[in-house]
Parts: sequence; structure tokens; C-alpha cells
Amino acid sequence: MLPELNQVTSLIAALPGIGRKSAQRIALHFLKQDVGYLNRFIEGLQDFYENVVCCETCGALRSVREPCEFCGPNRDPSVLCVVEQPSDIYAIESSGEHHGLYHVLMGVLSPLDGVGPEDLTLRQLKERVMQSTTLRELIIATNPSVEGNATAHYIGRLLSDKPGLKLSRLASGLALGSQLEFADSQSISLSLRARVPLET
Ligand SMILES: [Zn+2]
Repeated sequence: MLPELNQVTSLIAALPGIGRKSAQRIALHFLKQDVGYLNRFIEGLQDFYENVVCCETCGALRSVREPCEFCGPNRDPSVLCVVEQPSDIYAIESSGEHHGLYHVLMGVLSPLDGVGPEDLTLRQLKERVMQSTTLRELIIATNPSVEGNATAHYIGRLLSDKPGLKLSRLASGLALGSQLEFADSQSISLSLRARVPLET
């Protein structure tokens, strides 16, 4: 293969969910575009890479030019929703059911993969919860997987000494093993509304 084509194809094939065949098709598609589009694409990627950061408080993605939209005064500080990844926030938002704050764990507990409590933002979560004077409910929206459930229970035990805090978990509207990120907004909405107390 042409070395230049091979290089671009390999870069694209490294993206999630894209096989080598699709990568090559995308590479050839780029070749057919005008230079203006290519420049906008490159600049857009560069801007995204340089100016999108994780919020220091909640872990959501935010632009360096703007304060975090999920930590703003228009959010309900009495409810905090705990998710695995920043992308899960968009899934929850699409349901329109949650108007409170978020906390991104940056993963789930997974001893087999060597992910322990110190690899997640659990310490920050505990600090946030303990220091809060407004928080009344914590909704644990980790994925309904073995790891997601284990992480939910770990959080339940971690925060059990916060007086008056209601701990809940998404209802079983989401199939076991499914991922929030790919669930439809109606299923998320239902499982948020029918959330159940977390058993610790
Ligand atoms: Zn934030």
C-alpha cells in the first residue's frame, strides 16, 4: 500500500469501532475533500484537543473558555448523579430527568484489570459529599454490569456515614450488561424515575 495511505489508514483504524476497511474508505474520502474542509477538520481537532478539559469539580468536559455548565447555579445542588465516564453525562442529560450535579468516576472498580479505588475519583467524591450542606440524594448511575454494580455498593459503603443522605441506584429498566452511553433516552428516563434505594 502507498505509505501515505497506509499511515492515515492506521491512524483512523486506531479510533474506537473503526475497522481497517472503513479506515481506508475514510482516508480516501479525505482525499476527495477540498482543502478548506481539511483545514477546518484539522483546526477543529486541534482546538478540541487543546481547549477541552475535565472540570476540576465534577469531571465533566468543559471548554477552557467557559465555566462548567453542570456545576453552574442553574443546577439543583440537592441531587448528585455519579457516572463512570464524561460521555455518560450526555446520556443522562438526554433523558431530561436529572437537573442536579454530576460526579464522574473516570472508570469502575475492576480488580481483574488492576483498577482499584485509588484509580477512580472516589476520594474526591467522598470529600464533595462530606463537605456539602445542600446534598440530599446521590443517584449512582454506573452501568448495570458486574463492575458497575460492585462500584455502586462500594460507594454505598463509602458514604454510609453521611447523615440524611439518600442513596439510590438506577432502576432495572436498563438491561444487565448494557451501557448507559448507548441506551436510548427513554430507557434512561424510566430508570431514573423508578430509581431504587441502594442496598448496602
Ligand atoms: Zn463541573
